[in-house]
Amino acid sequence: MARAGEKVDYVFKVVLIGDSAVGKSQILARFARNEFSLDSKATIGVEFQTRTLVIDHRSVKAQIWDTAGQERAVTSAYYRGALGALLVYDITRRQSFDHIPRWLDELRAHADKNIVIMLVGNKSDLEEQRAVSTEDAKEFAEKENLFFLETSALQATNVESAFQTVLTEIFKIHS
Ligand code: GDP
Ligand code: MG
Repeated sequence: MARAGEKVDYVFKVVLIGDSAVGKSQILARFARNEFSLDSKATIGVEFQTRTLVIDHRSVKAQIWDTAGQERAVTSAYYRGALGALLVYDITRRQSFDHIPRWLDELRAHADKNIVIMLVGNKSDLEEQRAVSTEDAKEFAEKENLFFLETSALQATNVESAFQTVLTEIFKIHS
């Protein structure tokens, strides 16, 4: 992680999208602050959080935007300038996966044409309540040319990998 006052070589905007309650804010809390809360409330007024990491000896500031509970009112300003996206569903809620094509259409309509997209099946710790198979999601991701990972913000599984993959890929395209 870069120290305060150190120079930042790149700033990459990444957006979190997906239905309410799939775990977007907790994924961000885990990545930005290594925190998790089981009774999370939407953080009103906070548009994004940042974390600076080193990729290929360069200092990269990830600026991660969260919908802050406004999933129904995501505007084009939210997508503007985004170079990456985490498209999140909840593996225990089939409906949140069935809505992914709609989120993907909206994302592709508004964002950079080279946007790097990671499909994220969150809450992998709730295996006994699983409603979306890993295979179905993997197949969809391959068809749509998306990266794919299952995560648990609760157990801190794959959250780091999901962001690392997206940021490294953005770096390859834009550096
Ligand atoms: P958002 O509306 O997409 O931002 O969802 P939140 O981050 O607010 O999370 C919704 C609920 O799911 C909260 O009660 C979280 O504590 C819970 N949650 C988020 N991520 C996980 C996870 O990985 N595992 C489990 N078991 N619960 C999670
Ligand atoms: Mg939220």
